[in-house]
Amino acid sequence: MTAAATTENPAGWYLRVTDLKQFAYCPRIVYYSYCLPLIRPTTYKMEASVELHDKAASDEARRSLRAYGLSEGERRFDVALTSERLGLSGRMDMVIVLGQHEAIPVDYKLSQHGEARHYHQQLAAYAELIEEAWQIPVRRGFLYLLPERRAEEIKLTGRLRSGLCSQVATMRAMISQQTMPEPTAAKARCINCEFRRFCNDLF
Ligand code: SF4
Repeated sequence: MTAAATTENPAGWYLRVTDLKQFAYCPRIVYYSYCLPLIRPTTYKMEASVELHDKAASDEARRSLRAYGLSEGERRFDVALTSERLGLSGRMDMVIVLGQHEAIPVDYKLSQHGEARHYHQQLAAYAELIEEAWQIPVRRGFLYLLPERRAEEIKLTGRLRSGLCSQVATMRAMISQQTMPEPTAAKARCINCEFRRFCNDLF
């Protein structure tokens, strides 16, 4: 995604919050997406995921906030925000706003478990975007695990937030300098990878 260059983001382009997840899976996927942006096809898996998220949002609108331990709050769906400071943009499934007192990002997941660190990092990134754009404090977020219809609360600590900032800086440097990163150590991920043909050094 490109944007006008600013003092905070002199390079004038944004990473996406979803790139954090891809980077954790294999850094090369993010590298290829930005440095060779025309080669990535839209897969059936991506389209199916969009459909499931749309359905989850429509189900959510009919539910109460009890799953989040709340009796009231304003639900905002499909919230797109950017951070000039981090050079990061993201689209949140939902944000629950409790006036100016607190905002709580909610991320729908197709997983049955919420402990993956990159899930927490995504929520921390959303916290940064919300605080910068709306000036409302964010202390926690929720992963809504669609298969189990269960919300899991994640505390968005200072440590999680500072780890996010250095991660974003690493990713931006990799793309700006067009430095191909090391491949994932989990070689099983390469078997069905759509970028496999570009990793000539591995096969
Ligand atoms: S083939 Fe393997 S190393 Fe190359 S981008 Fe895919 S997952 Fe990463």
